[in-house]
Amino acid sequence: MENLASRELHEECGVVGFYGVDHAATHAFLALQALQHRGQQGCGIAALRPDGTIGLHKGAGLVKEVFGKEEIASLPGNACIGHVRYPTTNVGGQENLQPFLFTRKGCSFALAHNGNIVNADRVKSYLERRGHLFHSTSDSELFAYLVGTGVHGDDWEANICAAANLLDGAFATVILIDGVLYACRDKYGFRPLSLGRLGKGYVVASETCALETVGASFIRDVEPGELISIDRNGVHSSFHAHSCSRCMCSMELIYFARPDSVIEGCSVHGFRRLSGRLLQAEHPADADLVTCVPESSMSAAIGYAEAGGLPLEMGLLKNMYVARTFIQPTQSLRDVGVKMKLSPVRSIVRGKRVAVIDDSIVRGTTSRIIVQMLRDAGATAVHMRIASPPYAWPCFYGIDTGTREQLLAADRSVEEIRAFIGADSLEYLSVDALYKASGREQLCTACFDGKYPTELYQDND
Ligand code: SF4
Repeated sequence: MENLASRELHEECGVVGFYGVDHAATHAFLALQALQHRGQQGCGIAALRPDGTIGLHKGAGLVKEVFGKEEIASLPGNACIGHVRYPTTNVGGQENLQPFLFTRKGCSFALAHNGNIVNADRVKSYLERRGHLFHSTSDSELFAYLVGTGVHGDDWEANICAAANLLDGAFATVILIDGVLYACRDKYGFRPLSLGRLGKGYVVASETCALETVGASFIRDVEPGELISIDRNGVHSSFHAHSCSRCMCSMELIYFARPDSVIEGCSVHGFRRLSGRLLQAEHPADADLVTCVPESSMSAAIGYAEAGGLPLEMGLLKNMYVARTFIQPTQSLRDVGVKMKLSPVRSIVRGKRVAVIDDSIVRGTTSRIIVQMLRDAGATAVHMRIASPPYAWPCFYGIDTGTREQLLAADRSVEEIRAFIGADSLEYLSVDALYKASGREQLCTACFDGKYPTELYQDND
């Protein structure tokens, strides 16, 4: 997956949970590294120690930077939850790193979540007016507050169900409480969450690539609206919502997820390859070669090249070793970051008409730099083909897109966007082809068509 320096879309968070697995924290450390593409700001692991207490370590940075031997050793036990974070709607302060640890009714519990709760401000305002103080801006604290103060006493399953039912939006949440691991998804199923088996224990993870990494076998996806609990009796399932849909975030398939993951039965690589083929059928390019923007659009570029009978070449090279200090949220530093991160391969593109396959255009500045780079390297024509429809609406479900004004396609035609990025031609995948590639009848496509699956609660107070 892409480094943030060269991308305009930032994903939010990945979660893992382990139960009944020896050295659970070590496994979580490995699984979180497999999910590192979902968030690089910080990470954490909370583990159920053999004495019943919960230990926690978290910090800013990559998983391999935050956890060494000592930190892992401080988290013994066979159950834990973990999290990698990219800050989105909330500020990126240390206080927002997850998991969160709470004590309620004499019971310690840890919680971590991926997504964004759209009615969080409304629910928080209500609670603040009644005197509750929140210590962070994270939705997780609100979730945990509702669980911890639930009216069902120490029936934690009922309290989690009630909290999940009250909160609207996107969440894939893991909770460690009273010796039980819980995992739940919102009723729309925006974010993926899979269940696997590891020895005699169980694993839940945002993506199946994390299951693969730790040697777990895939059992099934956690269903939209489902709450599973895992204890020494095995896995128990219940539903916190009765009216559920299957609005998986289409950007998970297009860009966020790792290509070796399988989301609700759909191979991410297979989806992208087919979307590339369909893109070529819809919009062939008069080109000598095809290149991807490494690496997230590689699968789509393979499909495009195959379908068009064109050679797939390494027209752009990714520098794997760019200093992380370039990962900065300002536009000027992002521009520098793109040039640090990507280089044209002059010997390949010189004198050639190049079809560049990318997964999306958000603000357009990255695409503009890429087009110019290729021209400077001698390409005689640059045809941009985008393996998703125009990104015209902001996401409210945990993806950092900025405001609608910042989205290039919000109020511009394809021809205006082409002129802005300076390509010889520009074409996008259709929404119909997106569905066809996914093999699904339902997806969230709100960032393409503005049809949000939830209420947006924009009159919070
Ligand atoms: S609005 Fe777009 S990015 Fe956000 S959940 Fe829906 S498809 Fe994903």
